[in-house]
Amino acid sequence: MKITDNSVVSIHYKLTNDNGTTLDQSPEDNPLIYLHGKGNIVAGLEKTLTDKSIGDAFEVTVSPEEGYGIREEHMVETIDRSMFEGLDDISIGKQFHAEGNTGPVVVTVTKIEGDKITIDGNHPLAGENLNFAIEVMAIREATADELEHGHIHGPGCQH
Ligand code: ZN
Repeated sequence: MKITDNSVVSIHYKLTNDNGTTLDQSPEDNPLIYLHGKGNIVAGLEKTLTDKSIGDAFEVTVSPEEGYGIREEHMVETIDRSMFEGLDDISIGKQFHAEGNTGPVVVTVTKIEGDKITIDGNHPLAGENLNFAIEVMAIREATADELEHGHIHGPGCQH
């Protein structure tokens, strides 16, 4: 069985940046399970997984354009602390939901200078190459319910 659109795929993955630092990896007993072809994982990785089979192991470098996007400097803004009224725990790395020009975005606090807070609406991994080491653990057909919802169902997730 090969991975096609609407396959439910289990993978082990390890994600490193170009410095070789591990950013994320699936726990040994808990592979990532996702519905293929629905944009549930980054585009460059999804594309590479198409037609792979159980047991296939490979490495792929995904460019920012097919990963978390290129960095856009206009999404970095410095605003006054008073804009955060009601939020007393502002620290570097803290993330907030904010209203952007094209809908809700997650912003990250990247700098604090007195009452001037710099927030960054780019994804934390925007502009980075994503180096994935992948092993395909399982493949099955999605159920009708899963296809309708666009995500997988399993223990504790039948919504
Ligand atoms: Zn559902």
